[in-house]
Amino acid sequence: MQSLLFLQTKPGCSFFSQLTIDNVNRAKISLIIVIIFEVALLIRNIFEHGFSLHYYVIFYIVLLTVSAVSLTLLWWMPNKEQHIRFLDRFIFSYYVFFIFWGGALTVLDQFSYGQVTAYLSNVLVGVLMYHCSMRKFMVMQFIPLVIISFAMYEAQANEDIFLGHMINITVFMVFATIGSRFLYNVAAQNHMQRELLSETNEELEALNTELAYLSMRDELTTLANRRGLYHYMDQHLQVENQQVSAVILDIDAFKHYNDFYGHLEGDHALRMVAKILQQQAGAEKTFVARYGGEEFMFVRFHHDDDNTTIKAFAEQVRQAVFEAQIPHAASPFEAVLSVSLGVSHSHIATEVNMTQLFKEADEALYEAKRSGRNCVRYYEEVTIEI
Ligand code: GH3
Ligand code: MG
Ligand code: MG
Repeated sequence: MQSLLFLQTKPGCSFFSQLTIDNVNRAKISLIIVIIFEVALLIRNIFEHGFSLHYYVIFYIVLLTVSAVSLTLLWWMPNKEQHIRFLDRFIFSYYVFFIFWGGALTVLDQFSYGQVTAYLSNVLVGVLMYHCSMRKFMVMQFIPLVIISFAMYEAQANEDIFLGHMINITVFMVFATIGSRFLYNVAAQNHMQRELLSETNEELEALNTELAYLSMRDELTTLANRRGLYHYMDQHLQVENQQVSAVILDIDAFKHYNDFYGHLEGDHALRMVAKILQQQAGAEKTFVARYGGEEFMFVRFHHDDDNTTIKAFAEQVRQAVFEAQIPHAASPFEAVLSVSLGVSHSHIATEVNMTQLFKEADEALYEAKRSGRNCVRYYEEVTIEI
């Protein structure tokens, strides 16, 4: 409960806005009930006494008019942030008026019935329907209380009856204060829990996004992994009438590299190659992923029918790796690290074609390996060996 002390109820803070919106909603209910009551009392009065401007009738009409105007205003005014301050002041003023109204009627009652019911019931409505800070509660309840007590003292001829009233009012006000604090604290606690929940939800959402990102990344090279590649494909396959090209790349004699330089150096070389591939792909708006082991896959969605650009791209990638001159002393093919690439192209980008596309690129890659490595081969040039 101690943390509630730190809760701001100043305009602009979220608790104040929430509290005001709730108070406005409760005020609408109170106003409807008040209007129904006043109309009923007016009708009853007219039936019993005919239409006369008795002070009770005037009281009913005043309350009815103020309540009807207030309800109309609250109904049409949106609960927007810029109106919150006004709305709070407005309903606060209404309840102050409402309590004074009950108090004034009670003072007048002292000349006839001598009861305090009208005042106390309005105090109760204020407590139940307007949840507010202690400061506001004091202004709203205690200023009218002092004024009404003095007026009652003047109006009530019988001192014993007056004393009885004051005792009743005091007991009532003590419990009204406790009740008001209780309701306010519950509202504050609810608000804090809601805030905490939305904070936790936001954190969870951020964690989920991070997890989804991590699950699609390859840890070693930081490129997309196979899952990331399929996710990318899924997203792009939704766009109709696209063509798609795939380039699969495999590092030549990498087993020899590992055997000769060790696995850690092998990892380092993989990272260097991945960096080159990323630079090449980035410049050409092509997606690249680590397909597995020392194999990488490039994918490019496009609308032009010309597949010579993807061939040129594959050749450019091969050269970039070769020109990086990463020494490979154990290679049976070249003195530096080289790569072989297989290219394939599909005229319609569909899910079925994707599997076929990768298969064809793979076949072209094997053709490149067969042809002596450090070269590019295209699926349409692959000669199927029987
Ligand atoms: P080829 O020219 O026919 O492609 O020969 P290769 O030796 O590259 O092919 P092979 O499939 O025989 O060997 C691939 C090697 O890649 C074996 C494996 O240890 C290595 N490799 C795969 N993933 C990693 C990795 O994450 N780190 C390291 N250091 N090596 C890896
Ligand atoms: Mg391989
Ligand atoms: Mg290899």
